[in-house]
Amino acid sequence: MPKNNSLILPGQTIGIIGGGQLGRMMAIAARYMGYSIVVLDPTCNCPVSQVADKQISAAYDDRHAIKELTDMSDVVTYEFENVDVTAATYIEKKRKLPQGTYPLEITQNREKEKQLMRDLELPIPDFSIVTNGREAAEALKTFSFPAVIKTCSGGYDGKGQMKLHSKADIQQAVDFAEKHTHCIIEEWVSFDTEISVIFTRDQSGGITFFPIAENDHKDHILYQTQVPARISEEAGNKAYKAAEKLAEKMDVVGTFAIEMFVQGEVIFLNEMAPRPHNSGHYTIEACNVSQFTQHIRAICGLPLTPIKLLAPAAMINILGEDQGGVLKALPQVQDGFVHLYGKTEAKSKRKMGHTTFIAETQEEIQRKICRFEEAKR
Ligand code: AMP
Repeated sequence: MPKNNSLILPGQTIGIIGGGQLGRMMAIAARYMGYSIVVLDPTCNCPVSQVADKQISAAYDDRHAIKELTDMSDVVTYEFENVDVTAATYIEKKRKLPQGTYPLEITQNREKEKQLMRDLELPIPDFSIVTNGREAAEALKTFSFPAVIKTCSGGYDGKGQMKLHSKADIQQAVDFAEKHTHCIIEEWVSFDTEISVIFTRDQSGGITFFPIAENDHKDHILYQTQVPARISEEAGNKAYKAAEKLAEKMDVVGTFAIEMFVQGEVIFLNEMAPRPHNSGHYTIEACNVSQFTQHIRAICGLPLTPIKLLAPAAMINILGEDQGGVLKALPQVQDGFVHLYGKTEAKSKRKMGHTTFIAETQEEIQRKICRFEEAKR
């Protein structure tokens, strides 16, 4: 059964579930093209509502609100993976959810995600699923350290996980598993580089890849993305092939991201996101088409644009604690494309925006970043 009604053209309406920054950048891309936007989010004046035609302020699983969103929209998309599956199924049955429900079911659950990767014989860290403390203690008998225990659902930006440095941490892992019940224990990969493979797939199975991004995290939150990633061609090809296999298996439509670890020529798949990704924001200025525009094209049934990297780039997130400095720097520096997401409260560690730098070389980019950082102080 086709997952979508038909071609959706500018002038028609795109519904977005979730009012955060990813939805906002999707909405901005769509509005450039001339689409109307309606957003479902419980928080009034959310980042998407500031650039949308209409907001439905209700819970994501509110059946009336989901019906209203579906009725008002010619096509619906989501900006985060924890969409209520019953709601998604309703919209899919109305043939207005080209991304489908299946990628949500997989990416909402680390067990299903890793099991699918294992079934496809893709390289992943060794793992064990545990449902209580006793099972965690048993599983850790066969793991070497370091290892990591993560909740199977609901974790993000390092929340819901704990690194296990040595056998001395077993009791903490047992307590963690007892508290969170459904958990995954993984072997710790001593990677050289963390990367993300971001691609967009259309409704006939055509796929376009963005250049692989190299990611640095601070306190488990993405700090900087650099493109091109400093990995070998062989590792890059393995990463693209693995992503293609998963995309076909899940029949992905839209922009999708897979995070991986690279150790020399070897890759390990970590986790997936069925939506545009923080590490793909650089595409707005550094590529001929952004991850957001390409996503809108895919869900609206338009042909995908062949992707070109226009210049090397680096993207740095602006967290709550950085926002004041960025506003201070802005009148003093020429470089850096600043994006603020319109969030009212600048809480510590909250993603408030990002800045992208482009130049001929990474060395020049790093010099621009230094000048920007100095102006922030
Ligand atoms: P995740 O929520 O799975 O993306 O994990 C957050 C971050 O923790 C990753 O971006 C890695 O930096 C680190 N991490 C998670 N799992 C592993 C692992 N098995 N080996 C090494 N680092 C990991």
